[in-house]
Amino acid sequence: WTARSADLLEARDVRAVLLPRPIDAHKYRAGHVAVLAGSPGKVGAALLCAHGALRGGAGAATIVTWPESATALESRVVEIMTARIHEGSELTDQIDAALVHKRAVVMGPGFGTGDGARAAVNHVLSTFPGTIVADADALSLHARAIEEFSAAGGRAILTPHAGELGRLLGMTSEEIEADRFTAARTAAARAHAVVILKGAHTVIAAPDGRVVVNSTGNAALATAGAGDVLAGLTGALACTLTPFEAAWAAVYLHGASGDAWKEANADRGMTASDIADGLPGVYASLL
Ligand code: AMP
Ligand code: MG
Repeated sequence: WTARSADLLEARDVRAVLLPRPIDAHKYRAGHVAVLAGSPGKVGAALLCAHGALRGGAGAATIVTWPESATALESRVVEIMTARIHEGSELTDQIDAALVHKRAVVMGPGFGTGDGARAAVNHVLSTFPGTIVADADALSLHARAIEEFSAAGGRAILTPHAGELGRLLGMTSEEIEADRFTAARTAAARAHAVVILKGAHTVIAAPDGRVVVNSTGNAALATAGAGDVLAGLTGALACTLTPFEAAWAAVYLHGASGDAWKEANADRGMTASDIADGLPGVYASLL
Protein backbone atom coordinates (compact mmCIF):
# COMPACT_ATOMS: atom_id res chain seq x y z
CA TRP A 1 0.00 0.00 0.00
CA THR A 2 1.13 3.53 -0.68
CA ALA A 3 -0.38 6.62 0.87
CA ARG A 4 -2.24 7.59 -2.29
CA SER A 5 -3.48 4.30 -3.63
CA ALA A 6 -6.39 2.06 -2.72
CA ASP A 7 -8.46 -0.69 -4.28
CA LEU A 8 -11.48 0.51 -6.23
CA LEU A 9 -14.71 -1.09 -5.02
CA GLU A 10 -16.69 -2.85 -7.70
CA ALA A 11 -20.05 -4.59 -7.94
CA ARG A 12 -18.42 -8.03 -7.74
CA ASP A 13 -16.89 -7.17 -4.35
CA VAL A 14 -20.32 -6.34 -2.96
CA ARG A 15 -21.95 -9.35 -4.63
CA ALA A 16 -19.37 -11.59 -2.98
CA VAL A 17 -20.39 -10.57 0.55
CA LEU A 18 -24.18 -10.31 0.03
CA LEU A 19 -25.67 -13.71 0.66
CA PRO A 20 -29.26 -14.53 -0.26
CA ARG A 21 -31.65 -14.51 2.69
CA PRO A 22 -32.08 -18.00 4.11
CA ILE A 23 -35.59 -19.35 3.49
CA ASP A 24 -36.14 -19.71 7.23
CA ALA A 25 -35.11 -16.08 7.91
CA HIS A 26 -36.61 -14.45 10.92
CA LYS A 27 -36.72 -10.74 11.66
CA TYR A 28 -34.39 -10.79 14.64
CA ARG A 29 -31.90 -13.11 12.95
CA ALA A 30 -31.83 -10.75 9.95
CA GLY A 31 -30.67 -8.14 12.45
CA HIS A 32 -32.29 -5.70 14.82
CA VAL A 33 -30.64 -2.29 14.59
CA ALA A 34 -30.86 0.28 17.38
CA VAL A 35 -30.73 3.91 16.28
CA LEU A 36 -29.64 6.26 19.06
CA ALA A 37 -30.61 9.49 17.40
CA GLY A 38 -32.93 12.47 17.13
CA SER A 39 -33.76 15.44 19.32
CA PRO A 40 -36.42 18.14 19.07
CA GLY A 41 -36.13 19.76 15.63
CA LYS A 42 -34.05 16.84 14.35
CA VAL A 43 -36.28 13.79 14.58
CA GLY A 44 -36.08 13.39 10.80
CA ALA A 45 -32.43 12.36 11.10
CA ALA A 46 -33.41 9.44 13.33
CA LEU A 47 -36.23 8.48 11.02
CA LEU A 48 -34.05 8.52 7.90
CA CYS A 49 -31.44 6.45 9.68
CA ALA A 50 -33.96 3.78 10.74
CA HIS A 51 -35.52 3.84 7.26
CA GLY A 52 -32.05 3.31 5.74
CA ALA A 53 -31.56 0.31 8.04
CA LEU A 54 -34.90 -1.30 7.08
CA ARG A 55 -34.56 -0.67 3.34
CA GLY A 56 -31.01 -1.98 3.68
CA GLY A 57 -32.37 -5.31 4.91
CA ALA A 58 -32.43 -5.09 8.71
CA GLY A 59 -35.19 -7.25 10.17
CA ALA A 60 -36.20 -4.59 12.69
CA ALA A 61 -35.21 -1.10 13.80
CA THR A 62 -35.75 0.67 17.11
CA ILE A 63 -35.11 4.38 17.59
CA VAL A 64 -33.76 5.03 21.08
CA THR A 65 -34.30 8.67 21.89
CA TRP A 66 -35.31 11.48 24.24
CA PRO A 67 -38.98 11.51 25.34
CA GLU A 68 -40.18 14.51 23.28
CA SER A 69 -38.59 13.07 20.15
CA ALA A 70 -40.07 9.63 20.75
CA THR A 71 -43.54 11.16 21.07
CA ALA A 72 -43.08 13.09 17.83
CA LEU A 73 -41.88 9.96 16.01
CA GLU A 74 -44.65 7.71 17.24
CA SER A 75 -47.21 9.95 15.57
CA ARG A 76 -45.78 9.16 12.16
CA VAL A 77 -43.90 5.87 11.95
CA VAL A 78 -45.36 2.44 11.55
CA GLU A 79 -42.53 -0.04 10.95
CA ILE A 80 -40.13 1.49 13.45
CA MET A 81 -40.19 0.96 17.21
CA THR A 82 -39.15 3.56 19.77
CA ALA A 83 -37.55 3.36 23.22
CA ARG A 84 -37.24 6.34 25.57
CA ILE A 85 -34.14 7.49 27.39
CA HIS A 86 -33.98 10.32 29.94
CA GLU A 87 -31.03 12.45 30.97
CA GLY A 88 -29.88 11.70 34.51
CA SER A 89 -29.14 8.77 36.77
CA GLU A 90 -31.27 6.23 34.90
CA LEU A 91 -29.73 6.94 31.51
CA THR A 92 -27.21 4.11 31.26
CA ASP A 93 -29.67 1.50 32.56
CA GLN A 94 -32.26 2.67 30.03
CA ILE A 95 -29.70 2.41 27.23
CA ASP A 96 -28.67 -1.08 28.33
CA ALA A 97 -32.31 -2.17 28.32
CA ALA A 98 -32.90 -0.68 24.87
CA LEU A 99 -29.80 -2.34 23.38
CA VAL A 100 -30.46 -5.90 24.56
CA HIS A 101 -30.35 -8.30 21.57
CA LYS A 102 -29.36 -5.59 19.09
CA ARG A 103 -26.53 -6.65 16.77
CA ALA A 104 -25.63 -3.12 15.77
CA VAL A 105 -26.24 0.37 17.08
CA VAL A 106 -26.10 3.52 14.96
CA MET A 107 -25.62 6.62 17.04
CA GLY A 108 -25.44 10.34 16.44
CA PRO A 109 -27.81 11.61 13.73
CA GLY A 110 -29.58 14.66 15.19
CA PHE A 111 -28.87 13.33 18.68
CA GLY A 112 -27.51 16.53 20.24
CA THR A 113 -24.17 17.20 21.89
CA GLY A 114 -25.21 18.04 25.46
CA ASP A 115 -24.25 16.18 28.64
CA GLY A 116 -26.88 13.48 28.18
CA ALA A 117 -25.82 12.77 24.61
CA ARG A 118 -22.16 12.62 25.65
CA ALA A 119 -22.90 10.22 28.49
CA ALA A 120 -25.00 8.02 26.18
CA VAL A 121 -22.38 7.90 23.42
CA ASN A 122 -19.54 7.12 25.83
CA HIS A 123 -21.57 4.43 27.57
CA VAL A 124 -22.32 2.69 24.27
CA LEU A 125 -18.68 2.91 23.17
CA SER A 126 -17.41 1.28 26.32
CA THR A 127 -20.11 -1.38 26.82
CA PHE A 128 -21.98 -2.40 23.63
CA PRO A 129 -20.83 -5.84 22.44
CA GLY A 130 -21.88 -5.49 18.77
CA THR A 131 -20.88 -3.11 16.01
CA ILE A 132 -21.27 0.62 16.67
CA VAL A 133 -21.75 3.10 13.83
CA ALA A 134 -20.86 6.62 15.03
CA ASP A 135 -22.06 9.52 12.88
CA ALA A 136 -22.81 13.23 13.12
CA ASP A 137 -23.23 14.40 16.75
CA ALA A 138 -21.56 11.24 18.09
CA LEU A 139 -18.45 12.36 16.17
CA SER A 140 -18.69 16.05 17.05
CA LEU A 141 -18.74 15.21 20.76
CA HIS A 142 -15.13 14.06 20.49
CA ALA A 143 -13.60 16.95 18.58
CA ARG A 144 -9.79 16.59 18.64
CA ALA A 145 -10.12 13.36 20.61
CA ILE A 146 -10.51 10.65 17.98
CA GLU A 147 -8.72 8.16 20.29
CA GLU A 148 -11.93 8.06 22.41
CA PHE A 149 -13.40 5.70 19.80
CA SER A 150 -10.81 3.04 20.60
CA ALA A 151 -12.96 2.35 23.69
CA ALA A 152 -15.08 0.24 21.33
CA GLY A 153 -12.21 -2.21 20.92
CA GLY A 154 -12.24 -2.25 17.12
CA ARG A 155 -16.02 -2.60 16.80
CA ALA A 156 -16.73 0.99 15.75
CA ILE A 157 -17.34 2.41 12.29
CA LEU A 158 -16.98 6.21 12.07
CA THR A 159 -18.78 7.97 9.21
CA PRO A 160 -17.43 11.54 9.01
CA HIS A 161 -17.53 13.96 6.08
CA ALA A 162 -14.40 16.07 5.67
CA GLY A 163 -15.61 18.74 8.11
CA GLU A 164 -16.34 16.18 10.84
CA LEU A 165 -13.06 14.36 10.30
CA GLY A 166 -11.25 17.70 10.42
CA ARG A 167 -12.78 18.42 13.83
CA LEU A 168 -11.79 14.97 15.09
CA LEU A 169 -8.19 15.39 13.97
CA GLY A 170 -7.77 19.12 14.68
CA MET A 171 -7.39 19.92 10.96
CA THR A 172 -9.34 22.00 8.45
CA SER A 173 -11.61 20.28 5.93
CA GLU A 174 -9.32 21.64 3.17
CA GLU A 175 -6.40 19.79 4.75
CA ILE A 176 -8.46 16.60 4.85
CA GLU A 177 -9.54 17.00 1.20
CA ALA A 178 -5.94 17.56 0.11
CA ASP A 179 -5.07 13.93 0.91
CA ARG A 180 -8.19 11.90 1.67
CA PHE A 181 -6.38 8.54 1.75
CA THR A 182 -3.87 9.59 4.38
CA ALA A 183 -6.57 11.31 6.43
CA ALA A 184 -8.83 8.24 6.46
CA ARG A 185 -5.97 5.85 7.16
CA THR A 186 -4.57 7.98 9.97
CA ALA A 187 -7.99 8.35 11.53
CA ALA A 188 -8.65 4.59 11.38
CA ALA A 189 -5.34 3.83 13.07
CA ARG A 190 -5.82 6.45 15.80
CA ALA A 191 -9.46 5.50 16.49
CA HIS A 192 -8.77 1.77 16.14
CA ALA A 193 -11.98 1.81 14.08
CA VAL A 194 -13.17 1.60 10.49
CA VAL A 195 -13.47 5.10 9.02
CA ILE A 196 -15.74 6.08 6.13
CA LEU A 197 -14.52 9.43 4.84
CA LYS A 198 -17.61 10.60 2.93
CA GLY A 199 -17.98 12.86 -0.09
CA ALA A 200 -17.26 12.40 -3.80
CA HIS A 201 -14.80 9.45 -3.96
CA THR A 202 -15.64 8.15 -0.49
CA VAL A 203 -12.67 6.38 1.10
CA ILE A 204 -13.08 3.52 3.59
CA ALA A 205 -10.11 2.66 5.84
CA ALA A 206 -9.59 -0.15 8.35
CA PRO A 207 -7.34 0.11 11.42
CA ASP A 208 -4.96 -2.47 9.93
CA GLY A 209 -4.16 -0.19 6.98
CA ARG A 210 -6.53 -1.58 4.32
CA VAL A 211 -8.13 1.20 2.27
CA VAL A 212 -10.75 1.04 -0.48
CA VAL A 213 -12.30 3.80 -2.56
CA ASN A 214 -15.88 3.76 -3.78
CA SER A 215 -16.84 3.79 -7.45
CA THR A 216 -20.54 4.69 -7.14
CA GLY A 217 -22.37 7.90 -6.25
CA ASN A 218 -22.87 11.31 -7.79
CA ALA A 219 -23.61 14.90 -6.87
CA ALA A 220 -27.36 14.25 -6.49
CA LEU A 221 -26.36 12.69 -3.13
CA ALA A 222 -25.48 16.15 -1.85
CA THR A 223 -28.85 16.41 -0.09
CA ALA A 224 -29.89 16.73 3.56
CA GLY A 225 -30.14 13.41 5.34
CA ALA A 226 -28.11 11.40 2.81
CA GLY A 227 -25.54 10.68 5.51
CA ASP A 228 -28.22 9.54 7.96
CA VAL A 229 -29.45 6.96 5.45
CA LEU A 230 -25.88 5.72 4.94
CA ALA A 231 -25.37 5.33 8.70
CA GLY A 232 -28.55 3.25 9.04
CA LEU A 233 -27.69 1.10 6.03
CA THR A 234 -24.22 0.51 7.48
CA GLY A 235 -25.82 -0.64 10.74
CA ALA A 236 -28.07 -3.06 8.86
CA LEU A 237 -25.14 -4.64 7.02
CA ALA A 238 -23.07 -4.77 10.21
CA CYS A 239 -25.61 -7.23 11.64
CA THR A 240 -24.12 -9.93 9.39
CA LEU A 241 -20.81 -8.60 7.99
CA THR A 242 -17.52 -7.53 9.58
CA PRO A 243 -17.26 -3.78 10.28
CA PHE A 244 -14.96 -3.20 7.30
CA GLU A 245 -17.15 -5.20 4.88
CA ALA A 246 -20.32 -3.53 6.17
CA ALA A 247 -18.75 -0.11 5.72
CA TRP A 248 -17.59 -0.52 2.15
CA ALA A 249 -20.65 -2.47 1.02
CA ALA A 250 -22.95 0.22 2.49
CA VAL A 251 -21.07 3.01 0.75
CA TYR A 252 -21.24 1.16 -2.57
CA LEU A 253 -24.99 0.39 -2.28
CA HIS A 254 -25.86 3.93 -1.14
CA GLY A 255 -23.98 5.41 -4.10
CA ALA A 256 -25.54 2.89 -6.49
CA SER A 257 -29.01 3.90 -5.28
CA GLY A 258 -28.13 7.53 -6.01
CA ASP A 259 -26.84 6.55 -9.45
CA ALA A 260 -30.03 4.64 -10.29
CA TRP A 261 -32.12 7.61 -9.17
CA LYS A 262 -30.09 10.02 -11.29
CA GLU A 263 -30.39 7.73 -14.29
CA ALA A 264 -34.18 7.71 -13.94
CA ASN A 265 -34.52 11.38 -13.03
CA ALA A 266 -31.90 14.14 -12.90
CA ASP A 267 -28.68 15.24 -11.25
CA ARG A 268 -30.65 17.10 -8.56
CA GLY A 269 -33.91 16.99 -6.65
CA MET A 270 -33.33 13.63 -4.96
CA THR A 271 -34.26 13.38 -1.28
CA ALA A 272 -32.63 11.18 1.32
CA SER A 273 -35.78 9.02 1.49
CA ASP A 274 -35.37 8.32 -2.24
CA ILE A 275 -31.89 6.89 -1.53
CA ALA A 276 -33.31 4.51 1.08
CA ASP A 277 -36.29 3.58 -1.08
CA GLY A 278 -33.99 2.78 -4.00
CA LEU A 279 -31.96 0.20 -2.08
CA PRO A 280 -34.20 -2.81 -2.83
CA GLY A 281 -33.83 -2.04 -6.54
CA VAL A 282 -30.05 -2.00 -6.14
CA TYR A 283 -30.24 -5.38 -4.40
CA ALA A 284 -32.37 -6.66 -7.28
CA SER A 285 -29.61 -5.74 -9.72
CA LEU A 286 -26.86 -7.33 -7.60
CA LEU A 287 -28.33 -10.45 -6.07
P1 AMP B 1 -23.79 13.92 5.04
O1 AMP B 1 -22.88 15.05 4.68
O2 AMP B 1 -23.52 13.37 6.38
O3 AMP B 1 -25.26 14.21 4.83
O4 AMP B 1 -23.50 12.74 4.02
C1 AMP B 1 -23.70 12.96 2.64
C2 AMP B 1 -23.68 11.64 1.90
O5 AMP B 1 -23.85 11.90 0.50
C3 AMP B 1 -22.37 10.90 2.02
O6 AMP B 1 -22.59 9.52 1.87
C4 AMP B 1 -21.57 11.45 0.84
O7 AMP B 1 -20.56 10.59 0.41
C5 AMP B 1 -22.65 11.60 -0.22
N1 AMP B 1 -22.32 12.71 -1.12
C6 AMP B 1 -22.48 14.02 -0.86
N2 AMP B 1 -22.05 14.76 -1.89
C7 AMP B 1 -21.60 13.88 -2.83
C8 AMP B 1 -21.03 14.03 -4.15
N3 AMP B 1 -20.83 15.23 -4.69
N4 AMP B 1 -20.70 12.90 -4.82
C9 AMP B 1 -20.90 11.70 -4.27
N5 AMP B 1 -21.43 11.49 -3.04
C10 AMP B 1 -21.78 12.57 -2.33
MG1 MG C 1 -24.19 13.81 8.27
